Amino acid sequence: CGIVGYIGYREAYPIVIKGLKRLEYRGYDSAGVMLYDGENLKISKTKGKVVDLEERASKEISINGTIGMGHTRWATHGVPNDVNSHPHLSNSGDLAIIHNGIIENYAPLKQELIKRGYIFYSDTDTEVLVNLIEEVQKKEKLKIGKAVQVALNQVVGAYAIAVFDKKNPDEIVAARLGSPLAIGVGEGEYFIASDASPFIEYTSNAIYLEDGEMANIRLHKPMKVRKIKDDSLVDPYIQELQM
Ligand code: GLU
Repeated sequence: CGIVGYIGYREAYPIVIKGLKRLEYRGYDSAGVMLYDGENLKISKTKGKVVDLEERASKEISINGTIGMGHTRWATHGVPNDVNSHPHLSNSGDLAIIHNGIIENYAPLKQELIKRGYIFYSDTDTEVLVNLIEEVQKKEKLKIGKAVQVALNQVVGAYAIAVFDKKNPDEIVAARLGSPLAIGVGEGEYFIASDASPFIEYTSNAIYLEDGEMANIRLHKPMKVRKIKDDSLVDPYIQELQM
């Protein structure tokens, strides 16, 4: 399973696809991609390999956009099929998430969300998390980073996630607990990935999030890293990768 994300000025699709291929060694049963072109949030996903995703995406969506997220899934909740593949959207269609890991308490959270009118299209724990973030965001009128933080504090499990909010499109929020997540820091661009291999050719500066940390990765403002639990700011260590 693997995660790739890009926010910057280049076309995201080729970076994401190439990155997913570099993460194939981690094993997976499905693959998917999200692109944002300044107007439209586009998703294509499929059971199968990254080459199957490429074939499908080229027919299904226009593959342009300078913000992108890609995922390879190793199913834990819900069989490997197209619908259960990531990214998953929230009910409003504004939030997209990719997730590696397991949300252990997804069942009670899902029941609660269903009571509040949420509809679930997949059998995944991940779709519960993205709708929980949406519910928190709506109820408490929070920006996406805060909403992710509040939601994660209600979650038991393991995760590396990246979340995109169409209402706040200069930002990707990333967080980790128990699954790896690296951030490549370029000039006017950022990369997110399960390991540094998807972005090593673009930048040699990497931040490895520690367990329990989250990052607001923003295009026009400095990146902020904080602890999910207590909101304390972390001064991230930027590591120089050997090219
Ligand atoms: N638990 C999630 C799912 O089953 C993510 C699995 C993964 O790590 O790829 O969809």
